[in-house]
Amino acid sequence: MLEIETTRSSFTYDDTRLMALLKIQTEMLKSIHDFLYEKKLVQLMPVILSPITDPLNHSVYDASITYGEQKFQLTKSMIFHKQLAIGATSGPGIYIMSPNVRLEKETMQQSGRHLFEFSQVDIELRGASTQDFMDFMEDLIIATLIHIKQKCSDEVAIFESRLKIPSKPFRVYNSFNLREQFGDDFEQIMSSTSTDFFWIMDYTREFYDKEDPERKGHYINYDLFYPYGFNEALSGGERDYEYKILLRKIKERNQDPQIFDFYLKAAKEGKLTSSAGGGLGLERFLRYILKKSNIGDICLFPKIPGQKVRI
Ligand code: AMP
Ligand code: MG
Repeated sequence: MLEIETTRSSFTYDDTRLMALLKIQTEMLKSIHDFLYEKKLVQLMPVILSPITDPLNHSVYDASITYGEQKFQLTKSMIFHKQLAIGATSGPGIYIMSPNVRLEKETMQQSGRHLFEFSQVDIELRGASTQDFMDFMEDLIIATLIHIKQKCSDEVAIFESRLKIPSKPFRVYNSFNLREQFGDDFEQIMSSTSTDFFWIMDYTREFYDKEDPERKGHYINYDLFYPYGFNEALSGGERDYEYKILLRKIKERNQDPQIFDFYLKAAKEGKLTSSAGGGLGLERFLRYILKKSNIGDICLFPKIPGQKVRI
């Protein structure tokens, strides 16, 4: 019998539970691929090393290496590659099963939903609006939950989880209103008191998320949330792609435009285009499906912030 003790807890798998977990994960990934294939999106290979990566809107430890004369960042997200690829291709959109390294601070250990290496399905739709993307993701989530319910009911039962299929459209809230009502912990409060998926719009974020031209200091973006306290599922937004706007926003954040020279040159030459997209964390989706409070309990080789990794 194979036994794997996760680093987060003393929860152990016997082989029945491990195979059930991996079967559900396999069907989850298959359903996502099938959905995106049906929508005629094309898949990019993941990028692990790049001179630039997502600056993120929270602080993590540096994860860069030097090779030859060049410094490379380990991928935090492929946002810039997505924008360049959308600009260089045709068709409705692109996606990547994208491994990300984010050396999260040790305090994240308590959240139950943070790994320092994880994967997201990172999607970008050409010319799409917020509404288009939200609609698209609601369909993807619903199709995948239905698929798992059909294919893996015995395996899901082993984890004593019940899969409720949500109905469209998911409810929509505004981050400014929620913060005013509930304080800084509004996301966890909302998720813990909800029994259905919901969206929160209008987050102050990185320079590539589109600024609302009609409401200064506001962004045309969104996060998707799980119910029952499982918190954030996805972040995304419409994108800014025009050179002048991107340059101004980079400078406003005291970031060095030089670092983004290749990306900014493409923008200047009109090679970026309008899009909307977002990334759905895959481990977090599986954690929600199995209703495990610790993300480490659904990973074969978990990387929990602040915990020693054995393999
Ligand atoms: P972000 O655009 O930074 O919100 O990342 C996209 C998605 O990836 C998030 O909505 C989460 O589902 C997932 N994600 C982000 N950071 C982590 C992490 N440290 N551990 C596990 N999943 C994560
Ligand atoms: Mg996020």
